[in-house]
Amino acid sequence: MARLHRFAVSSALLLQSLAFASPEPCLNGLCHSTRNRLASRTVASELGLQLSANCNVYGPDDTQFGNCTARYDPFFTPKIQMVVQPATEEDVPKIVQYASANGIPFLAMARRHGMTSTLSEFDGMQIDMSLLDKIEIQPDGKSAILGGGVFAKNIMEKLWDAGYVTSSGSTSCVGLLGPALGGGRGRLEGYYGVVSDSFLKLNVVLANGTAITVSETEHPDLFWAMKGAGHNFGVVTSLEMKIYPRGVDTWYYKTYIWTQDKLEAVFEASNAFHNDGNHAGHHLKEMAFNMGSYTMIPSISETEGVIFWSFVYRGSKEEAQPYLDAFDAIEAVSTEDGNVPYPEIPGVSGTGMNSALCDYGLNHVHYPAGLKVWNVTTQRQIYDLYNEKIREYPEFQRTTVNMEDYSHEGVDAIDPDTSAYPWRDRGLLSFIAVTYDPNPALDEAAIAWAQETRDLWNAGAPDLLPSTYVNYAHGDESAESMYGYEPWRLEKLRGLKAQYDPDNLFSYYNPIIPNMNPRSTHESNFQGRQIGAKSRSRGQ
Ligand SMILES: Cc1cc2nc3c(=O)[nH]c(=O)nc-3n(C[C@H](O)[C@H](O)[C@H](O)COP(=O)(O)OP(=O)(O)OC[C@H]3O[C@@H](n4cnc5c(N)ncnc54)[C@H](O)[C@@H]3O)c2cc1C
Repeated sequence: MARLHRFAVSSALLLQSLAFASPEPCLNGLCHSTRNRLASRTVASELGLQLSANCNVYGPDDTQFGNCTARYDPFFTPKIQMVVQPATEEDVPKIVQYASANGIPFLAMARRHGMTSTLSEFDGMQIDMSLLDKIEIQPDGKSAILGGGVFAKNIMEKLWDAGYVTSSGSTSCVGLLGPALGGGRGRLEGYYGVVSDSFLKLNVVLANGTAITVSETEHPDLFWAMKGAGHNFGVVTSLEMKIYPRGVDTWYYKTYIWTQDKLEAVFEASNAFHNDGNHAGHHLKEMAFNMGSYTMIPSISETEGVIFWSFVYRGSKEEAQPYLDAFDAIEAVSTEDGNVPYPEIPGVSGTGMNSALCDYGLNHVHYPAGLKVWNVTTQRQIYDLYNEKIREYPEFQRTTVNMEDYSHEGVDAIDPDTSAYPWRDRGLLSFIAVTYDPNPALDEAAIAWAQETRDLWNAGAPDLLPSTYVNYAHGDESAESMYGYEPWRLEKLRGLKAQYDPDNLFSYYNPIIPNMNPRSTHESNFQGRQIGAKSRSRGQ
């Protein structure tokens, strides 16, 4: 069976009669407890008639269900009872109204790369945004209208071919809004700031099913919140984003592989490159992004990790060379370079659709830290720990310790108070992803290693409060470390929650107000992994 239902709207009368939520009036107020376990088939027959012709509803017995729910990282998984795919923006308010009225938890998803543990609290209806994939460049060439389900690869390619670029995450397979609602880190931030800095307007469906437009002039406080804490407030059905002339025809890239004896030299050169975190005048926006990892390359060594590093420059090799001289001076096992159009940069720097990074189905137990400079001693400790753990657990061979250094000019140029994204002062983003085939017997060791690595990074930066980029959060970090320590930030966000989502229906992605859903599976998942106490200590 290809799908449970493909719906045709047969009669306006029928539509009207079904326009509000449950088909039976909820007279006794018990719908939330009596109807929240509706079978997908019932939902299909009740909700389907309200939706446009190309919508789909899939239940677990449908062959499409597996494709729609497969996750990048199965370590912390939301429990999906059914998948509803809106085919038009107008379908989304109806889906949200129906789910709300029937007490069915709902969660919008695009590319299913969400990795935070809080997603495992979810047990309900996945609103699969993937059919909302329009990319329409506006006639003035200054903005584009994008559907709520678009993702990085499609945006990069479509805009580039038309002569434009816009901000997105750096990895081709990842959605646009998943990253952008948490700020969004990417290769163009030296020019245009974090991804959400390019938002002009968002069309949002609120928890009560109302569709509103949010911008600098309409619901400006909510617009502020959507740029950094947006997962907490609504379903974005489409958005208008600034676009920019694409500039050069090709970008230059260079990758290096170094053995561990070069570690100190590499991080010293990197600190000099970004001027110990003071990027201005040193780390040009053209030198857009460099990132590296500790990784195992068995053809080089089966017992010692190597240091992989990749640089990308918006321009020619000749222009980039002065910035790379210091790295060229460190003897590498191998290097590779070339010039390619911007949409091909992910493919040559390890973040493309076909890269190992985009493989679905492996556990990636992760913890992040936001930094300003590399503490070289710490980087050595983390490297030694990496080798030690892989020797002890060969199953963790695919683990990477990742270090990202974004050009920062465009991020610094924006007043930090103008959005909910709180970490404009942290140029360096690091995280470990302990990677292995799902195997519960290894989970505890994976978590312990990932935590130890994050703790080393933080201990090596004693002058900084620990920060967590919300999209890299493990999920047990404090709300302050994700949304900012300045008290006004969380106060403002919580005030907006009371106004726009008083029942806390958007509470599954690093919530500002922790989830209190009695159907939550989060507690038991965490208890199973022996970190329950921490998961509930999130600031409230
Ligand atoms: C391999 C990999 C590479 C990454 N690279 C980057 C990167 O370069 N830059 C960066 O900033 N982050 C990056 N991330 C982190 C990324 O931002 C998050 O994992 C993000 O949640 C993924 O979004 P998604 O659409 O792919 O996943 P999904 O799981 O589909 O979405 C994640 C969450 O976003 C929300 N959401 C998605 N769509 C909508 C919508 N239309 N309306 C409302 N809410 C919505 C929901 O809360 C959902 O739970 C990466 C993650 C991975 C796994």
